[in-house]
Amino acid sequence: MREQPSINLESLLPYLGALVALSLVFITNGPLGPAAIHCGGALHRPINLLGCALLIASNRVAHQRAHKHAPDGKCCNNESHNH
Ligand SMILES: [Zn+2]
Repeated sequence: MREQPSINLESLLPYLGALVALSLVFITNGPLGPAAIHCGGALHRPINLLGCALLIASNRVAHQRAHKHAPDGKCCNNESHNH
């Protein structure tokens, strides 16, 4: 029987990172974002890029964990790549 991963702050970091990242992208691009960082504001691009970078980083960490915890070391039964 496989050991269940424990839930602690570190295990939640990729999820929290993705949540913050999507929130940043939403407030810079979504209809409810503040005007100062919405269309054309000086902060629009940096905040939007920060959100994208954080989302990519969160995805990378989650992907590495998928490999780490998989019994065969592969993610999603994908035979075509190794890390
Ligand atoms: Zn993979």
